[in-house]
Amino acid sequence: MYQRILDIRDQSRFVPEKALTQLQALQAKAEQEPPATRAELINQLSVAHLRTGQLDAAMADTEQLISFGRAQHDDAMLAKGLLAKSYVLFEKAEASAAYQLAFEAEKLANKSSDLALRSQAQVTVGQAYAEQGDFPTALSKIQQALDTAREATSDPVMLFGALNALTKLYTQMKEYDKADLTLQEMLELAGQLHSPGRMAAAKTTEYVLAVEIGQYKRAIQAQQLALDLMRKLGSERGVGMALGNLSDAYLKLHDYARAAQYANESLRSTQKSGDRSMESTARANLAQAYLAMGRIAEGKQQYEQALSRYEQENNKPLLQAILREYGEALERVGDTAGAVSAYHRERTISDQLFERRRQQAVLELQEKYETEKKQRQIELLSRDNQLKGTELDNKRLQQRVWWLLALVTALGALIVGMLYRRVRHANAQLEVKNLELKAQSVRDPLTALYNRRHFQDFMRALPHGDARESDLVGALFLLDVDHFKHINDSYGHAAGDAVLKMLAEHLRVALRETDMIVRWGGEEFLAYLPAVSRHGIDDVARRILRSIAAQKVEYQGHSITVQVSVGYAPYPLAPDGTPLPWERVVNLVDMALYLAKAHGRHRAYGLRGFANFEHTTLEAIEQDLERAWRAGFVDLSVVLGDAPDAVPPSPNEANNVVHIKHAHKNSHGT
Ligand code: GH3
Ligand code: MG
Ligand code: MG
Repeated sequence: MYQRILDIRDQSRFVPEKALTQLQALQAKAEQEPPATRAELINQLSVAHLRTGQLDAAMADTEQLISFGRAQHDDAMLAKGLLAKSYVLFEKAEASAAYQLAFEAEKLANKSSDLALRSQAQVTVGQAYAEQGDFPTALSKIQQALDTAREATSDPVMLFGALNALTKLYTQMKEYDKADLTLQEMLELAGQLHSPGRMAAAKTTEYVLAVEIGQYKRAIQAQQLALDLMRKLGSERGVGMALGNLSDAYLKLHDYARAAQYANESLRSTQKSGDRSMESTARANLAQAYLAMGRIAEGKQQYEQALSRYEQENNKPLLQAILREYGEALERVGDTAGAVSAYHRERTISDQLFERRRQQAVLELQEKYETEKKQRQIELLSRDNQLKGTELDNKRLQQRVWWLLALVTALGALIVGMLYRRVRHANAQLEVKNLELKAQSVRDPLTALYNRRHFQDFMRALPHGDARESDLVGALFLLDVDHFKHINDSYGHAAGDAVLKMLAEHLRVALRETDMIVRWGGEEFLAYLPAVSRHGIDDVARRILRSIAAQKVEYQGHSITVQVSVGYAPYPLAPDGTPLPWERVVNLVDMALYLAKAHGRHRAYGLRGFANFEHTTLEAIEQDLERAWRAGFVDLSVVLGDAPDAVPPSPNEANNVVHIKHAHKNSHGT
C-alpha cells in the first residue's frame, strides 16, 4: 500500500482530484496497515485536499497526522504533519505561522533517518528564508537539501524538488547562470524520470527564469511545452496555470490580443478546475490586456472582479500588488482619476498591512515579555522550592542524627547492661573460684586436712599463752606411718593414698572437732589440741595408736592395716619459764617421734617436762634427745601400741605407759 500511495503522490501534483479519489478509496483498508503507511496516507490526503482547494479538510488531515505522530512518539511522522500544516497555513496566507511550523518540522526531520523527509523540510525552510529576503540562509538550506536528496538515491523525486527550489532561488537572487545550470540538471533528471509531470514542472521553472532575464520567447516556448504536457496528463490545474503564465508572457511582450486570448482560456480552465487563485490571476491578466487594448470598461470590470476575489480571500499582499498594477494600467490609458483611486485603495491596504504588521509585532513583543516573565517566575519558584527543599533536607538530616544518637545511646545502654551482667557473673564466679582457691591453699587435696602452711599461719596468730601449771593445756602430736614404703611397694601408690585418706578420717574421729589436724608431710600428720587435760595427753597418744591400728583398708581384695609412731609434747612448753617458739616445740616432738621409731615403732613418746635445765641447753637436748633423757634433763612418757591382734585394753588400765626418768649425771655428761 505504501508504494501505491507514493504512485498516487506523483499524480497529485497534476491531477489532484483523481489522486484524492484514489487516496480516499484506500482509507478503509489502511486501518490494518503499519503506522508509517497510515501516516503517509493522511499526509497525501492533506496534499490532495490542499491542491483541490479544500483547505479545511487539508487542515484537518494535518492535525490528524500531528496527533498520530505524537501518539506514536514518532518524530519523523510528527515532522511530516507539521510540514503539511505549514503548507496549508501558507496557502491561507498565514506566512509567519507557516514558517514557524516549517522550522519546527525541519528540526525534528533532521533528527530522523528519513532522508527524503529531511530534504523536503530543508527545501521548505529554505523557501521560507527566501520569502523573508534572507537569501544567504535560504541558499545554504537549499544546498543542504540538495546534498541530502543526492544521498537519498531511492527517491529521485526529492532530488528533483531540491533542484527546482535551487533554480528558483538562484533566479530570485539574479544568479541567472547558476540558475540555468541547475535548470539543465533538472531537465535532464525529468527526462530520466520519464515523468511528463516533472518535465512540465521543469519547463514552468524555465519559463520563470526566462521571463526574469527577459527571454520572453524562450519563456513562451517552455510554457507552451508545459501546457502540452499538462493537457496530455489531463491536468486541468496545470493547463489553467500554463495558460495564465502564457498570457503573462504575452503581456510582457505587449501582445495584448494574445494575452487576452490566453487569459480567457486560463479563466475557463481555472473555473473548471476550481483553482480560484489562478482564476484571479487570469482575470487580472485579462483586465490588463483589455485596458491596454482600450476596452476600458471590460478591463475595469475584470479588475474589480479579481480584486473582490482577493478581498474575499483577504489576501492583502496580492490585493496590493494588483491595485498597483491596476493603477499603472489606468494611468497608461489616460484614466487619471481611476489611477488615483486605485492608488488610494492601494495605500489604504498598505496602511492596513502596516498596521497589522505593527500590531503583530506588538503582540509578539508582548508575548515574548509574558514568556520571559513566566520564565522568571518559574525560576523564582524553583529557587524558592530549592530553598524549601534544602530546609526540609536539613530538618530530615537533623531528625536522622537524633534518631541515630538515640539508637547509639540505647545500644550503648544495652551493651553496658550486658557487660555489667557479664562482669557481675564473672565476679560471682571469681568469688567462688577464690573460695575454692582459698580452700585449696589451706587444705591438702588428698586428705582434705589443713596443710602445713595454714598451720604455720595459724600458730603465728596464736597468742603465746603462758606455760603455767594449769590442768588444761595444749598439745602437739606428730605421727609417722610405720613402714609406709612397704605399702606403696606392695600394693602400689594408690593403695598408699587410700591408707593416707583413711588415716585422716580416723584422726578426725579420734580427735575433737576443735583440734587442728594437719598433713605435715608425705605420711606424717600433726595434730594440735588446744585444750586437753595435762594428765590426759598420754591417753590421747594411746587413742591415736589404737584407733589407727584397728583400721583396715580394703584395697583391691587386700586388707591393709597400718601402725604409726607418735611424738608429742604439751604446748606451750617452757623449760626455763619462757615458752618456746612453736617451731622448737615441733622440733622436740619430731625428736621424740624419731626415738619412738628408733625404739621399735608403733609407739608414742611424749615430752612431759624438763629437769635441771640450768645444767644443759635446749640445743644440747635438741641435738640428742635420748642422751638428754638418759641424763635426766628430759622427762618422757612412752606409750606402746597394742600387740597385733591384741584385745583392746580396758579404759582403766594404764597400760603400756612407761615413765622413764633417768638419773641426773651431770650437765655435760657423756
Ligand atoms: P618408717 O617411717 O617406719 O621408718 O618407714 P617408712 O617406709 O615409712 O619410711 P619413710 O617414712 O622414710 O618413707 C615414707 C614413704 O612414704 C616415702 C614415700 O614414698 C611415701 N609417701 C610419701 N608421701 C606419700 C603419698 O602422698 N602417697 C603415697 N602413696 N606414698 C607417699
Ligand atoms: Mg616418714
Ligand atoms: Mg614412715
